[in-house]
Amino acid sequence: MSAREDELAANLAGVRARVAAACAAAGRDPAEITLIAVTKTFPASDVRLLAGLGITDVGENRDQEAAPKAAECADLSLTWHFVGQLQTNKARAVAAYADVVHSVDRSRLVTALSAGALRAGRTLRCLVQVSLDERPGGRGGAAPGQVPELADLIAASEGLELGGVMAVAPLGADPAPAFARLAEVAAAVRAAHPAATAVSAGMSEDLEQAVACGATHLRIGTALLGGRDAIVR
Ligand SMILES: *Cc1c(COP(=O)(O)O)cnc(C)c1O
Repeated sequence: MSAREDELAANLAGVRARVAAACAAAGRDPAEITLIAVTKTFPASDVRLLAGLGITDVGENRDQEAAPKAAECADLSLTWHFVGQLQTNKARAVAAYADVVHSVDRSRLVTALSAGALRAGRTLRCLVQVSLDERPGGRGGAAPGQVPELADLIAASEGLELGGVMAVAPLGADPAPAFARLAEVAAAVRAAHPAATAVSAGMSEDLEQAVACGATHLRIGTALLGGRDAIVR
């Protein structure tokens, strides 16, 4: 094993232990939870090592970085999750390699992703990103009141499949009330679309609270891969 593989294996064991403890505390089965390794800023070689350690789901947040990485790792049959804010003009590119897009927050993006999926001959699973931040210019997402309509639009769009909902907890606030709100929005979406069961919530800092509130998908970067250098744009 390389030193990096040792490090990733230890980090993964630590995250799996946290998930197991959070599930035990919440009376949930860890098998209900998909761990997504968010590999942004880290090289394709790390994705390959994580795949060797049993990771099946990978997340990225920028098309420029994700597209070549997904191509380099095409032999690994991973599930690729696009978790970052997505510009409409990048939707077609993302539809060519992503399996799941977590950040669908407006109708124009739904239209663009549907066109991209049809063009690529693929089916794209879409989650509606819910804004849990009252402050404007927060971390993206549709207002909770707009979520049912967006969910209906995704479900009715060719090439798209409605997977559920996603949110990022507001910065610098207790994540528990935000995740509780997300659980309500998720239940409303499920009432109209019973197959849309995904609740993507929880990052390195708040995975316990997310599991307690019913998260099915955890998006974990730092706790698995280590600290990220600041992204210079
Ligand atoms: C980077 C990122 C994550 C992972 O964050 P960590 O705190 O490093 O675990 C999760 N979700 C989204 C949307 C991200 O951009």
